[in-house]
Amino acid sequence: MDRHAELLPRNFSLRVDSSRASTPSNGVEFRDRIIVKKFGGTSVGSIERIEHVAALVARERAQGRLPVVVASAMSGETNRLVALGNQIDPSYRGPAYDMLVASGEQVSIALIVIALAKLGVPAKPLLAYQLGIETDSVYSKARIKSIRTKELEATLVAGVVPVIAGFQGVDEEYNITTLGRGGSDTSAVAVAAALQLGACEIYTDVPAVFSADPRLVPKAREIPRLSFEEMMEMASLGSKVLHVRSVEIGAKHGVRIHVRHTFQDREGTWIVPEGEIMENPVVSAVTHDAATVVFKLAPIPGETAFIAKLFSVLSEKGVSVDIISQSQLERGYRLAFSVTAEDEPLVKNVLAAFLPSEVKVETLNDVAKISTVGVGMRNHPGVAARFFSVLADKGIQVQLVTTSEIKISAIIDRDRLDDAARALHSEFSLDI
Ligand code: ADP
Ligand code: ASP
Ligand code: MG
Repeated sequence: MDRHAELLPRNFSLRVDSSRASTPSNGVEFRDRIIVKKFGGTSVGSIERIEHVAALVARERAQGRLPVVVASAMSGETNRLVALGNQIDPSYRGPAYDMLVASGEQVSIALIVIALAKLGVPAKPLLAYQLGIETDSVYSKARIKSIRTKELEATLVAGVVPVIAGFQGVDEEYNITTLGRGGSDTSAVAVAAALQLGACEIYTDVPAVFSADPRLVPKAREIPRLSFEEMMEMASLGSKVLHVRSVEIGAKHGVRIHVRHTFQDREGTWIVPEGEIMENPVVSAVTHDAATVVFKLAPIPGETAFIAKLFSVLSEKGVSVDIISQSQLERGYRLAFSVTAEDEPLVKNVLAAFLPSEVKVETLNDVAKISTVGVGMRNHPGVAARFFSVLADKGIQVQLVTTSEIKISAIIDRDRLDDAARALHSEFSLDI
């Protein structure tokens, strides 16, 4: 593979051949006109919607901007592909899994380019290998290491709109990799970072980031500005609206993220550095993750070495363990931990091979994680007391708990999720 530019090359500059660029300008002005626009699954979910996206891109270009499009697969397509693989072996992870699930984006970017061509806009569909989006080889959860900007630069200078397949990358051996579910956001922000842009637009099916998922909490309110730190917590705690790595990359490389609606022409939420936010409520958002599974193992030996070994085997398989708790029983110990539901088959395989036969495994599938997030929690004691009082008043049992400076999370029964989310949302004065 060619020598790749670092994700943020220090001496990166767009060399502009003014005879080929659509309007003559120096390098700085040229970069100022570039805008990365990422369209999610529902935004490209039908031919009609794809034509709407193409019109939006064409309009932007007519106003003198240089759009770079990043797209997800058509809605439902990645789920369909995952389900096909699962019919054969739900615990399989490897290059074939990523090749399978990455294929949806190939279709959507080709359709967007055809729709742009119909509007007279020259555009080029680009898969990750064409662009050198290089990742590690952790299949199904790969991380971007670098993005070559040469092709992008050449495409933009030629006045052609790059239309990039989100979600996918390529490893050192030229295998297709994928960035984890929802990973197209990360592709977009990484492309913006590689181009040294100060912002990236994420077009989706909600007008903004809300104080809770508006599908779960009808009284959720729009948040006009949110810090990278809070958004990172929300994303890692299950809020689907942005992929967590996209927020990490945005924070690290100074790419502000604008989450907005594809079909409503108005501002949405800006994710910005914390210093740019004047006032912080105690709790900014209630976040949930319905795709959580808890494993309880007992009796296990008391030695820490046993747990260390178990978690290292799980991590070798690419499983990231979320909340962990250990408690003493009359004989031995009990270990409980939660993982994302997608990893349940993998964890079961690992446990079957690793655990001695006397260890009983209980799997809790009907659970969900509910969390409150807010940088304001740092300066306000008593949030945990209020959080648990709300759950106690509703008679909601808590399976596992974890806290940090700016969040509290609990695993509860899934059928109590709506109730818990709405009650916490009211308790922290977030209702509209
Ligand atoms: P896309 O296909 O555009 O990437 P996603 O389905 O991945 O869209 O993310 C958008 C969805 O995220 C919304 O439809 C909404 O249900 C969900 N969501 C979860 N939490 C929030 C939140 N706090 N604010 C807005 N949307 C949220
Ligand atoms: N198509 C991928 C998914 O459904 C990536 C994305 O939508 O961001 O997870
Ligand atoms: Mg998404």
